[in-house]
Amino acid sequence: ILSLENVSKKFKSGIRELTVLDNISFTVNEGDSMSIVGPSGSGKTTLLGLCAGLDVPSSGHVVLAGIRLDALNEDDRAYMRNQHVGFIFQNFQLLPTLTALENVRIPLELRGERGGKQLALDLLAKVGLGDRSDHYPSQLSGGEQQRVAIARAFITKPKILFADEPTGNLDEETAQTVTDLLFQLNRESGTTLVLVTHNMELAHFTDRILELRGGKLHADRLTVS
Ligand code: ATP
Repeated sequence: ILSLENVSKKFKSGIRELTVLDNISFTVNEGDSMSIVGPSGSGKTTLLGLCAGLDVPSSGHVVLAGIRLDALNEDDRAYMRNQHVGFIFQNFQLLPTLTALENVRIPLELRGERGGKQLALDLLAKVGLGDRSDHYPSQLSGGEQQRVAIARAFITKPKILFADEPTGNLDEETAQTVTDLLFQLNRESGTTLVLVTHNMELAHFTDRILELRGGKLHADRLTVS
């Protein structure tokens, strides 16, 4: 479902050019789960963004659901994301002026679909927030906001879900709830899961671990489960 071929990413700062990702290649099969790990600054978030079509590589190809993302313009990539991709950001990125229910419905709104209220309520119930649908993000704890973000990422039943540090800001118990939820939804819907995490315990729940060091692919191994 996802394939990267010789992907590099460089950022310009003044006259200097910084190589953040250097010649990365890998393939992820549909339904698999994979973690991207590595030291801070090794390029994990940048790599996730390229996989999801939030940005394009400086060279190389990113093929998602059979479409070459690096050949698309920004509007077409946004359309692709809305059709196929769920993304859970490190800082949730909920809209503060919308309720939990309205936040969960955003991807449908972007598709121009008017319905989906019941589906959004069902998803909120599934993540344990059935009684919080009218609450605004400021009235929710970090863990609750993260669960709203998960419900939002799942509302379009994406083929592939990307999550950047899904348990990063959560206490151990909430992190466990969020982890269980991600894998439950992954199992039930067959959604491919690609996570960036520092949490090796979480990484070992996925089928495969990809390790970055200094922008290079240092290791790519299957986990034993
Ligand atoms: P962390 O674990 O700390 O989140 P990371 O492995 O996710 O780190 P990235 O966020 O991908 O790392 O950043 C990798 C490198 O690329 C860093 O040195 C960062 O400063 C640089 N970088 C990221 N985005 C940009 C940008 N838009 N412009 C310039 N440099 C950038």
